[in-house]
Amino acid sequence: MTSPALPDPDPQWLADLDTEACRTALLDRVEAAFALCVDVHPGLPRPRVWLDLRGRSAGQAHFGRGGLRFNPVLLEENRHAFLVEVVPHEMAHWLVHHLEDGHRARPHGHEWRTVMRRLFGLAPRVTHRFDTARSSPAPHRYRCGCREHALSARRHALVRSGRAYRCRHCAQTLVYCGLRKLEKQA
Ligand SMILES: [Zn+2]
Ligand SMILES: [Zn+2]
Repeated sequence: MTSPALPDPDPQWLADLDTEACRTALLDRVEAAFALCVDVHPGLPRPRVWLDLRGRSAGQAHFGRGGLRFNPVLLEENRHAFLVEVVPHEMAHWLVHHLEDGHRARPHGHEWRTVMRRLFGLAPRVTHRFDTARSSPAPHRYRCGCREHALSARRHALVRSGRAYRCRHCAQTLVYCGLRKLEKQA
């Protein structure tokens, strides 16, 4: 196992940053990841960066627009994971896409995994777990006797204040089992 190529940011330092400084930290991290890529692929264009991704996706390499998109809500709540994993993950897509024949590579195929391991020194995980409390319309997971249910923050608050919901299928009262987790996307 290799060690991460980029330094591990201090979680306490990150937690203390205001929103603006946190975004600057993200941009700095993109720059550091880009510098690693340029070392091995000098012709790589610099990606533009947008914080305009919504919903449950953490990041996205957008080749049509020519850059990387990140989710500002998830960044705010998952700062360390964004710097350590999300930025290299998307930058690896960016690099692979710009390799010769890279646009034909599978999204998390051999090339992408090799960049994650060899260049960034990271395990090439495709999924990533995040707290989606504020970014998902129905982030609260409930269980009955037959399935899982997703409840909005409003309905969850009603349960907290004493209201009971029943499953329409099995008629059991729904039991809270925590926040839904995100699967990190492309
Ligand atoms: Zn049920
Ligand atoms: Zn991906």
